[in-house]
Parts: sequence; structure tokens; C-alpha cells
Amino acid sequence: MSPTPATDGWIAPLRAAAWPDLTATHIDALRRFEAALTERFTAPAKGKQLLALRRSLAPQRPPVGNGPIGATVAALAQFVCGFHDLDLRDTVGAGHGRMILRHGSGAALDRWAVRLARGELVGVAATERHGGSRLQEITARITPAPGGWSLNGEKCWVSRLCEAAAFVVFCKDPDDRIQAVIVEAAGPGVSRAPETPSGLGGWTWGTLAFQDVHVSEPYRLGGEQGGAGIFREHFASFRPLVAATALGTAAGVHTTVTGTLRARHQIQLLPRLRDTTLVTLGRTAADLNSAFLSAVTSARLTAQDSPQADVWARSVKAHGVQTAHRAVEDLAPLVGASGFRADSPIAKARQDLGGLLYADGLHDSLLRSAGRTLMKR
Ligand SMILES: Cc1cc2nc3c(=O)[nH]c(=O)nc-3n(C[C@H](O)[C@H](O)[C@H](O)COP(=O)(O)OP(=O)(O)OC[C@H]3O[C@@H](n4cnc5c(N)ncnc54)[C@H](O)[C@@H]3O)c2cc1C
Repeated sequence: MSPTPATDGWIAPLRAAAWPDLTATHIDALRRFEAALTERFTAPAKGKQLLALRRSLAPQRPPVGNGPIGATVAALAQFVCGFHDLDLRDTVGAGHGRMILRHGSGAALDRWAVRLARGELVGVAATERHGGSRLQEITARITPAPGGWSLNGEKCWVSRLCEAAAFVVFCKDPDDRIQAVIVEAAGPGVSRAPETPSGLGGWTWGTLAFQDVHVSEPYRLGGEQGGAGIFREHFASFRPLVAATALGTAAGVHTTVTGTLRARHQIQLLPRLRDTTLVTLGRTAADLNSAFLSAVTSARLTAQDSPQADVWARSVKAHGVQTAHRAVEDLAPLVGASGFRADSPIAKARQDLGGLLYADGLHDSLLRSAGRTLMKR
């Protein structure tokens, strides 16, 4: 197999020092996954193609077991996806479907375990017009109905809007407790209104409304634990993966920029590389590697149920995405205007990373809540 740029270029050199429990078999699985991904993916791809790719890659997914090694492989697979295109972030893993696998029971768990294994996608719907950073104030409601509940309300800025087969929707019950319920996307009373995003355009994004949507009792997740606990637990696991994906995208830009400069130097188009260019390449490589190590460490802490996991996940999402975003801003000018063309992967990476500054938690809110937790210790 020819060398794979993300696995061989960025992941394999760190293996022995950073993750001694990651075996050569895991690395081979990542290589095979990356090779299958690059063979089947042509940018730019839209939702239906990405969904088909997700389904076709289901047999190629690196085996993700439980515990720290499973979390490591999952984070590394996300890095590989991001490296080739940030829109590939949903081609591996259970994604938000993990909330169903972890907190579902009975009929809901049985049904969704099969559908997720087949490659179907689950979205999350939490944000409302008053502001996504204030989950406690959500207004979508479930009220008792025969055999379960009736859901009413509206969510905005929801990603995977038309591709997800279901959403985990956060809402309040009559006692004002936050609940998480599964809503089938094509069910009666569910409507979707896409908006046009300025990045991450592979997946549809927009408003999701519920009018008297029936939610059967097994489709309410987590029993007594409630939705707030599910949200916290899920995002402690999901945010390190977001950071790893973003850092993969920036590493992809780093590899592209380095390759372009090397080629220009070899043909003497650039007889000598400026020191400032070399410094930027060195500094961004160090920034990306250290943030990548933090993201994988954060994923491992969550898998170990560490008391540090929640604070790490919040700060690592903010730090990882900011580091990736800043690195791409610094690297893009090194190849000049060619990287500004609309069809340039560098231009796309810049736009896409902009979306992750908001999605899965605004950074000021995440860092503020991490700071508040640190003050309590
Ligand atoms: C590409 C993309 C994908 C997304 N996907 C999803 C998805 O799948 N599902 C989903 O539910 N949501 C999704 N979102 C929404 C995302 O989670 C929210 O954008 C995010 O939570 C922030 O919410 P908001 O945009 O409403 O901003 P707000 O919460 O309104 O915050 C805006 C600003 O106001 C600040 N602020 C908050 N309170 C105060 C205050 N008291 N005083 C002063 N300033 C304050 C915030 O810190 C922030 O800087 C997505 C967003 C994007 C861009």
C-alpha cells in the first residue's frame, strides 16, 4: 500500500511515544481506512454522497473497542477524516447516535443499534433562537400523551438536517427538567427548513420544527438521569473528536502547503525559502501536534471516566479548533492567491473551520465554564 499522508505522515511517528497501547494492527487499520476514504471521495461532496460514502465505509471502519484504546482509535480516525476534508467528519463513528447507544434501552436501542451499524446518521437538536450557549433556557416541550409524549417547539442551526434519519432533541418536561428524546426525521409533525451556510456546506443545516410529534416512552433517553446529564456526558466524549477532526483539517493544509513550497523550490520557482516561511511551517507543526496530542488525551480521559474529562473536553474543543483555525490562517498566505480560489481545498478548509468556532459550543462559553469548574476545586 502506498503511504497514506495522515496516518503515515502525522499519526504513525507519534505512536510509540504517545500511545504505546496502539499496535501496528491499529495503524494498519487506519491506513486501510484512509486508503478506502481517498479512493472513494471526490471533493466537493454533498450530503447524499457523503451519506453513501459513510455507508460504503462501514465495513472499512477501524475497529473501535471500548476504553482508552477505542477512544484513541476513534480520535485518530476523525483526524484522518478531517485531514482529507472537514465535511468527512461524519463518515466514521456513531456520532450523536452514541447518545442512543449509551442511554437508550429496549426497543429504541435494538432498532438504532442496527441502523447505526448500517451507516445511518443521527443529528442533535439543542440550539434555540434565544442562544445555543444557554441550554437551561430551552423552550421545546414534551407533554404527556397516550403511550408517551407529545413534542412541540423549534430548533435552529441544526447540522445534518436532511441527512440524519433521527435527531436527539433536548426539551423540557412538565416539571421543567431537561429531557433528551429520539425523533425520527421523517415522522409526522417534523418539518425542516435548510439555510445556506458559509462553510461546512457538505451537510444541510437549518431549522427543525416539531408540531405535536409523538414520542413513545422508550424514545425518551436515560430514564431518571435526565437530558442535562446526557448532554454533558455525550459532549465530554464528542468534543475531543471535534478537536481531532479540526486539527486533521489543519494538518492537511500544512501538508499541502509544505508540498507546494517544496515543489516550487525544486523547480527553482522559489530559489530560496524565506526564514519567516520556514518559521511559520515549524511553529504551526508544533502547535498542531501538541493540540492533537491534547485532543487524543482528552478522548482517553473521557473513556476512563476521569473526573478531569469534562473540563478537558471543553477546553480542548476550544483550544484545538482555535489552534487549527489560526494555523490555517497563517499557512494559507504562504502559497499565495492560488489558495484563495473557490475550488482550493485550502480556501474550503478556512471556511469550514470557521463553522467549528460555533458548532458544538462557542469557545468563550466553554472556557468560561471550564474556568468556573477549576475555581470550585
Ligand atoms: C456549522 C454549525 C453547525 C451547528 N450544528 C448544530 C447542531 O447540529 N445542533 C444544534 O443544536 N446546534 C448546532 N449549531 C448551533 C451551535 O451549537 C450554536 O451556534 C452555539 O451553541 C452558540 O449558540 P448561538 O449561535 O445561538 O449563540 P449565542 O448563545 O446567542 O451566543 C452568541 C454570543 O453571545 C454571548 N453571550 C451569551 N450570553 C451572554 C450574556 N449574558 N452577555 C453577553 N454575551 C453573551 C456568547 O458567549 C456568544 O459570544 C451549529 C452551529 C454552526 C455554526
